[in-house]
Amino acid sequence: MPTTKKLVYFFGGGRAEGNARMRELLGGKGAGLHELTRIGVPVPPGFTITTQACVYYYAHRRQYPKGLDSQLTTNLQRIEKILGRRFGDRDNPLLVSVRSGARESMPGMMDTVLNLGLNDSTVEGLIRRTRNARFAYDCYRRFIQMYADVVLGLKSTDKAADDPFERILEKKKKNRGVRFDTELDAEDLKEIVTAFKAMIRDYCRKDFPDDPHDQLWGAIGAVFGSWNNDRAIAYRELYKIPHSWGTAVSVQAMVFGNLGENCATGVAFTRNPSTGEKDFYGEFLVNAQGEDVVAGIRTPRPIMELKTIMPKSHAQLQKICNAIEKHYKEMQDIEFTIENDKLWLLQTRSGKRTGFAAVRIAVDMVEERIISKRDALLRIEPDQLNQLLRPIFDQNDKERAKKEGRLLGEGLAAGPGAATGRVVFHADDAVTWKNRGERVVLCRIETSPDDIRGMDAAQGILTARGGMTSHAALVARQMGKVCVAGCESLHIDYAARTLHVDHTELKEGDWISIDGSTGEVIKGEIKTLPAEVLQVLLAHSPDPQGSRVYQQFAKLMKWADEVRKLGVRTNADQPDQAQIARAFGSEGIGLCRTEHMFFQGERIQAVREMILADDEAGRRRALAKLLPMQKQDFKGILKAMDGLPVTIRTLDPPLHEFLPKNEQDICELADVMGVPVATLQDKVNVLHEFNPMLGHRGCRLGISYPEITEMQAQAIFEAACELRREGKNPFPEIMIPLVGSRQELHEQRNIVDRVAQETMKSYGIKVRYLVGTMIELPRACIVADEIAREAAFFSFGTNDLTQTCLGLSRDDAGKFLPSYVLQGLLPADPFVSIDEDGVGALMRIAIAKGRKTHKRLEMGICGEHGGDPKSVNFCHQIGLDYVSCSPYRVPIAKLAAAQAALQH
Ligand code: PEP
Ligand code: MG
Repeated sequence: MPTTKKLVYFFGGGRAEGNARMRELLGGKGAGLHELTRIGVPVPPGFTITTQACVYYYAHRRQYPKGLDSQLTTNLQRIEKILGRRFGDRDNPLLVSVRSGARESMPGMMDTVLNLGLNDSTVEGLIRRTRNARFAYDCYRRFIQMYADVVLGLKSTDKAADDPFERILEKKKKNRGVRFDTELDAEDLKEIVTAFKAMIRDYCRKDFPDDPHDQLWGAIGAVFGSWNNDRAIAYRELYKIPHSWGTAVSVQAMVFGNLGENCATGVAFTRNPSTGEKDFYGEFLVNAQGEDVVAGIRTPRPIMELKTIMPKSHAQLQKICNAIEKHYKEMQDIEFTIENDKLWLLQTRSGKRTGFAAVRIAVDMVEERIISKRDALLRIEPDQLNQLLRPIFDQNDKERAKKEGRLLGEGLAAGPGAATGRVVFHADDAVTWKNRGERVVLCRIETSPDDIRGMDAAQGILTARGGMTSHAALVARQMGKVCVAGCESLHIDYAARTLHVDHTELKEGDWISIDGSTGEVIKGEIKTLPAEVLQVLLAHSPDPQGSRVYQQFAKLMKWADEVRKLGVRTNADQPDQAQIARAFGSEGIGLCRTEHMFFQGERIQAVREMILADDEAGRRRALAKLLPMQKQDFKGILKAMDGLPVTIRTLDPPLHEFLPKNEQDICELADVMGVPVATLQDKVNVLHEFNPMLGHRGCRLGISYPEITEMQAQAIFEAACELRREGKNPFPEIMIPLVGSRQELHEQRNIVDRVAQETMKSYGIKVRYLVGTMIELPRACIVADEIAREAAFFSFGTNDLTQTCLGLSRDDAGKFLPSYVLQGLLPADPFVSIDEDGVGALMRIAIAKGRKTHKRLEMGICGEHGGDPKSVNFCHQIGLDYVSCSPYRVPIAKLAAAQAALQH
C-alpha cells in the first residue's frame, strides 16, 4: 500500500517533529518554532504544513495534496489534547493563528489570519473561559476584519475610498461619543460584529463562514495564495528568491496579549541591533495583540519598563533570550506574548543589524567564545563596513526630516556616507563657495572630468543621470566623497540655477542632504557625525586604545589578513588618497590614472597646448611644461606608498575631454598659443569624435604621439631616482592602457624601457620597475599569450572590458540597463558586479593564455569591480593575485577576499 507523504509537522508540549535545519520544508518561521519547542522554550502548540504542499497546490490547479485533510485533523487533535480545548467547541474553544513563512523571510509580503475559530457560539465559550466579554468581542471583530481582507478579498480597489470596516467603527464611535476603539464596550463590539457580517453579505453576496473548519481551509488557501500576490512576487524578484519555493503555513494555538493588564505583547533583540551592544533591547505593549505593535497605533514602551511592570516575565524572557542566542550562536529577534502572566514565544529569527552592530556582535561573540574567527568573518556583509568609515547622518534627525515630508527622491547609492551642504550647480562655484567657508553639495545633471576640482571641494555630489560607474560615482568613491548618482526625479536647470522635484524647488544656496549609503536625497540640513575609525587612523585622535569601534574594526581586519589569499591595492592618483588607503592596509597602488593629474591647477592650459600643437616640436614645448609637475605628482605618490608597488598608467582618455568648450576658453588659449581663434576652433572641430570611448584613447595616444609616453616615463623615473637618492624605495609599475595587440605594447614598452635606461644612467641610480598592460579589450584576452611576451603584468580593466564585451556604452547604459536588470535579462548591473559568464569567461581565457607564456605573470584587476564583494570572490576563484579598488573600499575588499578564501 503506498504510504501518504508527510505534509504536516507537529510541535508542542516540549516535542517537535521538525528542527532548525528544515527551513526548506517548514519555512524560516516554521523551522524556528519547531526548534524553539525542542529546546524547551514555551511555544503555543501547533503544526506546519510543508512548502511541498504549497508547491503541489500550484502545480495542481489549486488542489490540496491527498492526505492533507486527515493529517491536518490528526494534528489539530494533538493541539486540542495538549491544551484541553476543542476547535469549534462552544464551551471551551480552541482558537488558532494561520501564518505564512517561506524559506527566506519575506517580511510583510504574505498573509496571516489571527483569532480563527470564532463564531456566534464559540465567542460565548471564550467569554466563559476568560470572563471578559469585551475582549472576546474585540477578538471576534478583529478576526472578521482580517479574514474578510485576507480570505474573502474584501479590499477596496479605489485607493481614495475609505475602508468599509473603519467606516462602521468610526460611525459607532461617533454615536457613542468616544475617540478610541478601546472606549467601546462589549455590547458596542457585538453590534459591530453584526454590522461587519451584514456588510460582508452585501459585498460578497454570501455569508461569513461560521464553521471553524471552513474558516481554517479558507485561511490555508489564502496563505498559499498570498505566495503569488503582487507584493510577494515583486519582493522575490528584487531579492532573487525563486518563485518555485512556495510558502509553508503554520497553524498555531492563539495566546492573547490583550486579555487585561497582566498581558502584553512585544518584540525583543538579544543585542542592540543598531550598536551591537550586549544589552537586552526591545519594546512591548500592555494589553495588546501583536499587530498593534507593528501598526504603530499605540507607541510601544521600552522593554526595560517590563521589568517594573511584570518582573517575573521580564526575568524569564531575558533568560530565554540568552538561551536562544547561545543555541543559535547568533543575535536573535524574537516575538513574545504574555497571557495572564504566562510568557510565550511566537517567533525567533536572526536579527537584522547595522554595520556597526554587525562588527561589534561578531567580534564580541568571538571573544565570548560563542563563535570562531572564521564564523565572524563570514557573518559580516563586506559592504556593511562602509558604515564604519563614512560620516553618517544622525538617524533621529534624518527620520524627523522624512516625517516632515522632506525626502525629495532616491538615486543610486554611489558613494556611501552622509553629506549636507548648500546647493551649487557649477564646479567653479563649488570651489569659490568652499574657499569662503561654505559647505556645498555639487548638483549636476552629470559630471565630467572638468568638474574634478568642484567635486573635490564639495561635501557630496548629486547627479540626475549616470550609473554606478559614471564619472561622478567612480571619482566620488575614489575621493571618498559622498555621492548619489542618477536621481532621475531631479530636474536641474543650470541657467535658472534651480533644481525641481515635482513641485518642490531648491535654489542655489538652499540646503540639501544626500545619503550615499541609501541613495536618499533630502531637502534641508541634517546633522552628520564623523566616522570614528577614520579619526583614529588618520588623525590619531581619539587614541586607538580609547576607541572601541576602531579596536573591533582593526581586529576584524587582522583576522581577514590572516586568511585572505588575494592582495588588495588601491586606485589613487594623489598622495592623500594613497595615504588613506595605506592607513587601511592597502598593499600598493593598482591604478594611478595620470590624466586626473592633468586637470589640476593651471596644467589644463599646458595640456591643451600640447593637444592643439601643430607639430611635434610644439607638443614637446608643451610637454616640457608638464614634466616638472608630473614628476612632483609621482614623487608624492611613490613616497606615500614607499616600498610598495605603484601602478602608473600612461595617458588614457579621449583627447577631446581636454579641449576648451566655450568661446572664452578658446579665446584665452588662442592668445596663449599665439594663434588665431578661428584656427584653434577648426582644430577643436577636427578632434571631435562620434564615439570617443572607442576612439583616440588609451595606448593609441602614445602610439600617435610617442613624446607623451616619453614625457610620462621621464617624469616617473626622475621621481623614482630622486626618491632613491633620498633613501626611499620606490617601485613603479608602468601600465599601458587599451592594448589590443602585442605590437602596440611592444612599441610603448620600448619607449618606457629606453627612457628608463637613459634616466637611470643620468642619475647613476638603479630603480626596480615593471612594464605591463591593462587587459580591457576582448581581443587582448584572446591574444593574451602573445601580449604576455611583452608584459611583466596584466591588470584587468573591467570597466572597459565590460563595455566592449557586452557592447554597452558605460556612459549611456544607465538609460536602459536598470530595466534590463528589473526584467531579469541580466542578473545584475554588469558595471557593478562582473558578468561572470561573459566578461568572466574572457578573463579566464586571458589568465590561462597569459600564464601559458609566463607562468608567474602578475595579474590583478583595477576596474571598479575590484571593490565589489561578489566580484572579489570571483577574482579569488579565477586565481588573480590582487584586486585594486578605491581607498575607502580597501577594508571591504579585504573582508570579501577573506570570505572567498574561507569559502573556496
Ligand atoms: C577600466 O577600464 O576598467 C579602467 C580601470 O580604466 P578606466 O575606467 O579609466 O577606463
Ligand atoms: Mg579603461
